[in-house]
Amino acid sequence: MHRKLVVGNWKMNGSIAQLGELPAIAEAAREAAGVDVAICPPFTLIAPAVTRGGGLPIGGQDCHAADSGAHTGCISAAMLKEAGARLVIIGHSERRAEQQESDAAVRAKAAAALSEGLQTIVCVGESEAEREAGRAVAVVTAQLAGSLPDPEAEAELVIAYEPIWAIGTGKVATPDDVAEMHAAIRAHLVDTFGDQGARLRILYGGSVKADNAAELFAVRDVDGALVGGASLTAAQFVPIIEAAG
Ligand code: 13P
Repeated sequence: MHRKLVVGNWKMNGSIAQLGELPAIAEAAREAAGVDVAICPPFTLIAPAVTRGGGLPIGGQDCHAADSGAHTGCISAAMLKEAGARLVIIGHSERRAEQQESDAAVRAKAAAALSEGLQTIVCVGESEAEREAGRAVAVVTAQLAGSLPDPEAEAELVIAYEPIWAIGTGKVATPDDVAEMHAAIRAHLVDTFGDQGARLRILYGGSVKADNAAELFAVRDVDGALVGGASLTAAQFVPIIEAAG
């Protein structure tokens, strides 16, 4: 059994005013003794979230693979760290689609984040067409093979399985589908990394809400959740943290 990890991904949402949600989330995280909790707001909110977040770990939603240089509009892992971030999400399907991030790019970013000491969550997941074609496990396994850096690092590598068709749609993968995919991911991790692969945490993401969280957390090899919409308010996020406890 792994300790559960529940991470909120605010995507391109939030404001200084919205950081007022964080102390109640931090309080719930303290009360759920067996659960790790973090929030990843937009870059501009990281430093103020660290200050106002009641001790909650705060993370970024991307970083560049290089330490510094001529990369207009980008942020390095070292910059995230200096802003107070303790974790980062890499290779989210929205970035793979909107910024054309390849598996190789995701791997380079994740390696940079790990070497900076950031807990690094690498996202994978199939499209609806790929699932309907019976290719979901093959697609995700290929993404893992291409996107994961060596996990033998100072910082923790985490995998998030997020079926694209379940993100922001209210459609949730069935517990059987989640169990099948998480088992396939675990098998790949153990094949590739041995004992280390058995220790890595695998999160589920895609329309996780208060009313489906407990059922998802009960699935074998679901070691937590990556939560989008329902992480924006304490009222919606706290019951998910409690369900993980
Ligand atoms: P939703 O929880 O809004 O479906 O988003 C999931 C997600 O993409 C988290 O990274």
